[in-house]
Amino acid sequence: MASQRLLLLIPTTTYRTEDFVEAARTLDVDLVIASDRPNVMAGEFPDHLLTLPFGDPAAAARQMRGYAARRPLDAVVPVDDATTVVASAIGEALGLRVNPLAAAQATRNKLVMRQRLAQAGVPSPAFTTVPVADDPRAAARRQAYPCVLKPLVLSASRGVIRADDETGFVTAFERIRGILRAPDVAELGEGTDTILVEGFVPGAEVALEGLLEAGALRTLALFDKPDPLDGPFFEETIYVTPSRLPEATQAAVADVTARAAPALGLSDGAVHCELRLRPTAAGLEPVVLEIAARSIGGLCGRTLRFGTGMSLEELILRRALGQAVPSFERERAAAAVMMIPIPRGGVLEEVRGLDEARAVPHIEDVTISIPKGQEVVPLPEGSRYLGFIFSRAAAPAEAEAALREAHRHLQFVFR
Ligand code: ADP
Repeated sequence: MASQRLLLLIPTTTYRTEDFVEAARTLDVDLVIASDRPNVMAGEFPDHLLTLPFGDPAAAARQMRGYAARRPLDAVVPVDDATTVVASAIGEALGLRVNPLAAAQATRNKLVMRQRLAQAGVPSPAFTTVPVADDPRAAARRQAYPCVLKPLVLSASRGVIRADDETGFVTAFERIRGILRAPDVAELGEGTDTILVEGFVPGAEVALEGLLEAGALRTLALFDKPDPLDGPFFEETIYVTPSRLPEATQAAVADVTARAAPALGLSDGAVHCELRLRPTAAGLEPVVLEIAARSIGGLCGRTLRFGTGMSLEELILRRALGQAVPSFERERAAAAVMMIPIPRGGVLEEVRGLDEARAVPHIEDVTISIPKGQEVVPLPEGSRYLGFIFSRAAAPAEAEAALREAHRHLQFVFR
């Protein structure tokens, strides 16, 4: 059989390039990479390194239709939030298996997502919207507290702020207004004129990593987030799998996720769902905070291995290409990752204690993702991670403890 041709859509801002390209290399595919900025090598490999206008899905689809007339494609895979919509536009134009365009679009707008989930009766936070141009003091008087304010179109918890009272609401509102004026945000245009206000959902948070195939959800992993996420900002730190929750609760989480996907119209490919377990008289109720049409972000996918060691990215690419997957079973070991919290803003001058952190038992890797000399911006304005710590151990508690110990060895020096 002639080898298949795969189009990977890789935004310049992603952490996931290496892992997806590596996975594609292990498969017998003709790999075509498209980015939103020209690659320096594009002239040498005009059929393999493409530049596509990710912000204009219709134009990108037209361009790829021309390309595919010469060189047919077998699959298109988005590697991050920023390319899910354009992947659907291209896939629909070429008759490839992708999520419907409207579904991908719905996941990229937090208001549309809330509306769809509510319409379908999927447990999700109560919500309302306030125009950015409004007087926040009047809006503050109408809210129930605590609440969470957020922009419609950003990700990685950027601009997500909890408010406990009217004063907190006004402060949060003005801070988000500032974020929406940042040049990289303002250029997004659509959705930047509104702020979403949600009821704060208490309880532990989990993340479900899954795969949709013709609408059916397969759970690949369920992560616990053992650090409380109570705000005012929501910096993600530790993810641990397998989950230590009771089986029945895990089943309920999978069930609610399986209802959230069709509520948005999602049908194919990776999904990443964030849920809270709201305590009720009847037990823990899973509440959907967000479902995204992509796999887990940052470098966190490195925690997952399937069967005899297949990466998450290879599994995703194989399914997109219609190739067999030997096993969807995650390895037996527990695995964990820490997105290293940003202690303060400033120019990163030095990272100390890396060798000591790497030497901690069960630690597999410590990666710093901000180059020295670069400015680090904490939440709610920032959106980059300082780095990642990875561990593997027999049990989740051990994997988690190893991360915390390794983190204690790290010292970040800022100028
Ligand atoms: P993003 O897509 O930018 O990550 P989310 O809407 O998923 O934004 O919010 C980021 C984090 O903020 C969530 O993972 C959660 O910890 C917290 N959060 C957001 N909305 C709520 C809410 N309504 N109740 C409680 N926590 C929330």
